[in-house]
Amino acid sequence: MTVIAGTTGLIFNEPLLWEKGKKGRKGMSIPTSDVPEVSIDPALAGDGPDFPDLNEVDVVRHYTRLSQWNFGVDSGMYPLGSCTMKYNPKINEKHAAMPELASAHPMLDDEHVQGPIRIMYELQQYLSSITGMAATSLQPSAGAQGELAGMLIFAAYHKAQGSIRTKILIPDTAHGTNPASAALCGYKPVPIASNADGVLDVESVAALMDEETAGIMVTNPNTLGLFEGNIREVAEIVHSKGGLVYGDGANMNAIMGVVDISKCGVDVMHLNLHKTFSTPHGGGGPGAGPVCVVEKLAKFLPAPLAVKDGDMYRLSWDYPDSIGRVHGFHGNYGVLVRAYSYILSMGAANLKKASQLAVLNANYIKERLKNDLLLPYDKPCMHECVFSDAKQHELKVTTLDIAKRLIDYGYHPPTVYFPLVVPGAIMIEPTETECKEDIDQFIEAILHILNEAKENPELLHEAPVKTKLKRLDETLAARKPCLCG
Ligand SMILES: *Cc1c(COP(=O)(O)O)cnc(C)c1O
Repeated sequence: MTVIAGTTGLIFNEPLLWEKGKKGRKGMSIPTSDVPEVSIDPALAGDGPDFPDLNEVDVVRHYTRLSQWNFGVDSGMYPLGSCTMKYNPKINEKHAAMPELASAHPMLDDEHVQGPIRIMYELQQYLSSITGMAATSLQPSAGAQGELAGMLIFAAYHKAQGSIRTKILIPDTAHGTNPASAALCGYKPVPIASNADGVLDVESVAALMDEETAGIMVTNPNTLGLFEGNIREVAEIVHSKGGLVYGDGANMNAIMGVVDISKCGVDVMHLNLHKTFSTPHGGGGPGAGPVCVVEKLAKFLPAPLAVKDGDMYRLSWDYPDSIGRVHGFHGNYGVLVRAYSYILSMGAANLKKASQLAVLNANYIKERLKNDLLLPYDKPCMHECVFSDAKQHELKVTTLDIAKRLIDYGYHPPTVYFPLVVPGAIMIEPTETECKEDIDQFIEAILHILNEAKENPELLHEAPVKTKLKRLDETLAARKPCLCG
């Protein structure tokens, strides 16, 4: 078997803490109390939780060993398409942890937190300038919440126009959060099929856009990793019927410094700071989904916004048409600091270069794998490329088998079975932070697996075989999760 980094070595077995614990073990000793003991009413105390008794070394080793079973961007390549799992420089972590920022109380008066508010103000400015939009609110705490804020802004705008609209157009390549956010806001999502080139057709949009439709939600580049080249014509049609254009900016990592979003006709857009602007994510950690808008929609943004008054920075509530708060206090502040630190440490020229390298890396993978995996849309891609398992069908090997086998070779699998328009999709996003040698090694691993598929398909059906747990019954795990100790 080809030797691939990261899959052999010392991995400790580790029981559950409940199996490890022994009655009477303690993590620390505290001095005997010098006040008389009072017993608590047993009815109030109950039986107490069933925690195991453990000493300090047991606990430290337990969690350290579990952390070694984990896989993250810091341990290896994580080519999960649509998620931009790039390496996040540690300097951004260091800045977010500065006590002056991490410990600042969110209710202090503005004059006592000039630095933290200045960071918000400048980040608003940077994000507006990176997207080409007029104004930005940092409040939403995820892409999906940015979408919801955007839909609320759509609704507030149409209400102010005295227009009642009930529908939103959403391409069939969209992330599931798009129709969900529209529906949460009371809109009926209307799907539009993408064309044979994997992008929106101007005619299909024209056929569906009417005066009951609030607008369209477009992800650009879309989730096939393709640039929606008709975006301006699409926006013109939507605008001509009084609608608005929402840009899902989750894929901004492909176009920073290259595309001016406002010139594409987009009116509202969210960014995923945790994807594009360097916050470790996955596993449900905190994110941020700032929402950027054109001038005419600025008054609807979630307030307060950070403003500059002479030499003073302050949070301004002076937005009577605001859709209102969408997050407590200042949003996920630590994520905002990471993005600010990332943008300043990169500078405009390097942000652009990051996008260019992300696109180059994805195209390199596309070209090197397209003879062995079916490439449904054979044209230049942006930051990710989407294959399918069609060529492996006759071997009875599926996308899931290939993804699971990659784990044996030390890689996090790519995104699979999404977008839905490609049956058996394998969606690879290498990002700009992988060097050529690492990308070559990843490509070699996939080619090796595709060879195994011909020679030993049984092995692939069982994969992963080198992990602590082998192929899991994912349906059972989802339907009957075991949540107890
Ligand atoms: C990740 C993603 C979202 C949702 O963002 P969250 O921060 O996970 O809520 C929306 N659209 C696209 C295209 C995405 O990739």
